[in-house]
Amino acid sequence: KTFEELGLNPDLLKGVYVMGFSKPSKIQERALPLLLADPPQNLIGQSQSGTGKTAAFVLTMLSRIDFTKNKTQALCLAPSRELARQIMSVVVAMGKFTPVTTEYAIKEHLPKGASRITAHIVVGTPGTMTDLIRRKVLDVSEVKVFVLDEADNMLDSDGLGEQTLRVKNMLPRSHPVQIVLFSATFPDHVRSFANNFAPKANKIEL
Ligand code: AMP
Repeated sequence: KTFEELGLNPDLLKGVYVMGFSKPSKIQERALPLLLADPPQNLIGQSQSGTGKTAAFVLTMLSRIDFTKNKTQALCLAPSRELARQIMSVVVAMGKFTPVTTEYAIKEHLPKGASRITAHIVVGTPGTMTDLIRRKVLDVSEVKVFVLDEADNMLDSDGLGEQTLRVKNMLPRSHPVQIVLFSATFPDHVRSFANNFAPKANKIEL
């Protein structure tokens, strides 16, 4: 399969090719049709880093943004600031030919004084994301995609799993929110968390 056949829009295809990707990786080929389907469906994916999972969920977020609205429409949580930065770099690179706006929800990036975040895509760590939503700096009423990367590492860190659930509980109930969870491993506690976090999800294992 090619990226064209996966139904990406032309601006995202340009982004993909600028990254130098000539064809989808295995996880992209399997996940993107499910991730881009309408109506949106939840996905639980088992995948190591190095497989191309980041591009898969970044393309999903970018595909679902309505760029005519200056509203946050996708959130992505990672267990560390470093990973959040890596994800953001993929968002920026793949979104190069779109008008996407982005913001970090990580501690040292907390926009001081900024009273409102209106970026389309916000990437960060659970504690800061929770804080921004609570303080109403970040309005999540139009969020339609919620991505959780490295769920296993998230649950290994004190309190991060709980904060992730808190973010999820603050998301709107007025419309469906597509939930996407990736983890390299699925020991029992991660599996039960994932099933609860992303109900009725499609499942992909590599
Ligand atoms: P990840 O699994 O998201 O950590 O990605 C691993 C690496 O694979 C990154 O350096 C990506 O730039 C690269 N990559 C992702 N998708 C593709 C693709 N379709 N073709 C070639 N390289 C890719």
